[in-house]
Amino acid sequence: MASVLLLNASYEPLDVITWKHALSLMLRECVVAACDDAIEIQSVSRVFPIPTVLRLRRYVNVPRRNAHWHRVGVLKRDRYTCAYCGRRPGDRQNGHILSKQDFTVDHIWPVSRGGKNTWGNTICACARCNQRKADRTPHEANMKLRWEPKTPRSNYLVASGEIPAAWKAYLEI
Ligand SMILES: [Zn+2]
Repeated sequence: MASVLLLNASYEPLDVITWKHALSLMLRECVVAACDDAIEIQSVSRVFPIPTVLRLRRYVNVPRRNAHWHRVGVLKRDRYTCAYCGRRPGDRQNGHILSKQDFTVDHIWPVSRGGKNTWGNTICACARCNQRKADRTPHEANMKLRWEPKTPRSNYLVASGEIPAAWKAYLEI
């Protein structure tokens, strides 16, 4: 199903909507195109080009929600890159080519010591670094984090998966 990225008037991503919803917003003149890419929808008499990114004419006030924590979300947020050694799927480690399955979620403050499943306490790590760090903090293990874990916005994960190129300018991915 073709979908459209809906932006607020401020260009902040709001939602991923169906082309039908997009068409109704266009017909009501609530939105303007925010990219050149379009999905072509064929009706009986004509073709409607629907831009893959639309922007609301009027600003809507949306309270910020943080995305719900989940394991795969952490891996996607960190693009399957080990926060300790920087290796990614496709990189070599001990003669083995890493795949997504080799990446795990590391608890910065270990679970065994009360560390929680939160965006701020979890980060992507290769199995080897995760094992090496074990039940220690990065400081105790003398391992340095390459970046600070961030809490993604709710729309971040809605759009994860296959992302149309035209959306990328507006999403933190
Ligand atoms: Zn690693």
